[in-house]
Amino acid sequence: MSTVEQQSADISRNGGGDGRTFAVDNPATGETIAHLPDMDAEQVHALVARARAAQKAWGEASFDDRAAVMYRARKWMTDNRERIAKTVMDETGKTREDAFIADVFTTADALGFWAKKAPSYLADERVRTHAVLAFGRKLILRYRPYGVVGVIGPWNYPIANCFGDAVPALMAGNAVILKPSEVTPLSSLLVLEGMRAAGLPDDVMQVATGTGETGAALVDGADMIMFTGSTRTGKKIMARAAETLTPVSLELGGKDPMIVLRDADLERAANTAVYWGMANGGQICMSVERIYVEEPVYDEFVQKVVDKTRQLRQGKPGGAASVELGAVTFAPQVEIIERHIRDAVDKGADVLTGGKASNGPGRFFEPTVLTNVDHSMEIMTEETFGPTLPIMKVRDADEAVQLANDTRYGLNSSVFAGDPDEGERVARRLTAGSACVNDAVINYAATELPFGGSGESGIGVRHGPGGIQKYCQVQALAVTRFATKRELYHFPYTKTRSGLLERMSVLLYGRVPRKYRNRR
Ligand code: NDP
Repeated sequence: MSTVEQQSADISRNGGGDGRTFAVDNPATGETIAHLPDMDAEQVHALVARARAAQKAWGEASFDDRAAVMYRARKWMTDNRERIAKTVMDETGKTREDAFIADVFTTADALGFWAKKAPSYLADERVRTHAVLAFGRKLILRYRPYGVVGVIGPWNYPIANCFGDAVPALMAGNAVILKPSEVTPLSSLLVLEGMRAAGLPDDVMQVATGTGETGAALVDGADMIMFTGSTRTGKKIMARAAETLTPVSLELGGKDPMIVLRDADLERAANTAVYWGMANGGQICMSVERIYVEEPVYDEFVQKVVDKTRQLRQGKPGGAASVELGAVTFAPQVEIIERHIRDAVDKGADVLTGGKASNGPGRFFEPTVLTNVDHSMEIMTEETFGPTLPIMKVRDADEAVQLANDTRYGLNSSVFAGDPDEGERVARRLTAGSACVNDAVINYAATELPFGGSGESGIGVRHGPGGIQKYCQVQALAVTRFATKRELYHFPYTKTRSGLLERMSVLLYGRVPRKYRNRR
């Protein structure tokens, strides 16, 4: 049975299903490629109930048992890479390389990473205390899975940004319900097939297909929500989760700056800007969305970026290396890109190359470079999420830093400098959650490093120890092994013991340490 058929069967097993469906299109051709059930709240709650039942045994399984499933899933992904890449390409319109690098390669890497790291990241931690009253106790911090984690994902990387977040949640012992974007649900259904083939017990991972309403129902039912998507929806989810005090982790939008200093390697900076501005059609939360270049090298840098952008090939993706840019996955995104460019041009910007959507079939937007831009323009302040590179001239590094930090977002950022130490000094002044020197986005590949946004780019992190600990309730244990019959502070109160406690507090807290005595 195919996963799409399985999904329909699951719906009838839930007892719900009024037959509502939604269509999935191929953005590169305009063709409808599937119809899937649009799950209502009752159906989602039925999935949650099944997940809750299945989680018990999964949560009690050893890390090794769970890791075995993840490694088998990794092999399944590798064996089925062509099928996976094709499914991702069909529903996103992205190139084979974009599908392969992030959705296959990165996710396969994540399966092994969390399988290996979960035992150490989630190991019980022995805590030593400074507190006199708690001396002698065995103090333990332990991680216990929440139960049912809802993972709500966007359409730009339908596997990496949806199932990718399920991997640590599963390794921590949770059951997971994926709610993929209604634009790109087929990839999640395919991965579900892979997890079943890898031996994941029934109902430990399920997929709730549907629209925003389906996601909202999952927020009501799950014990924890991992959300990746727009800042607007992230705020709605946090408000809804507040009603049940459900913890959330939010990976939201970005407007990532790149700074190019006068002594930078301009060839490398331009190559990086064009790649990370245009890769995946610019539909990356941490793509380079705006560039600040020091005056003496501005013209040369702009020329390089324009030349390189003009060489990019765009069209319906085929086999390996067929095109560099694919389609715009989500139809309304074209209007956002057009609006940002129109607003910039109305306020005095120049379009040096690109600038418009191409005629169908399929949905494409030309790779675009703009200059004479400033912060009165949406293209410099709002997330465009398209193949656009607006470049602004700055006097010096100080002005670049001030402009880079002039944003409500704070996801990723990059600095190009001839002197890497100077680059690092500038990077440390940026308010974004991550910063790269003489590179962009590469921090994300180092899964040991936490990745998360500041400001309106999110709350919580993926990757690093925090990327799996967030799927757990922290339980603090204090075990008293050897003790007297009565503590100093127990009833009944006596003058002797009250006096002793008071003298003890004066002894412990009644002086400023020598090092700080004369410090003002
Ligand atoms: P959206 O916020 O529109 O949607 C994300 C998911 O939320 C979709 O599955 C959507 O369902 C669902 N959803 C919509 N409304 C609700 C609701 N009220 N309650 C629960 N779920 C809901 O984001 P996009 O899909 O448009 O993705 C693009 C955005 O994602 C960009 O802003 C990008 O920056 C961000 N992003 C952030 C990343 C990060 O790591 N920080 C990584 C990748 C993308 P449906 O699609 O069916 O409406």
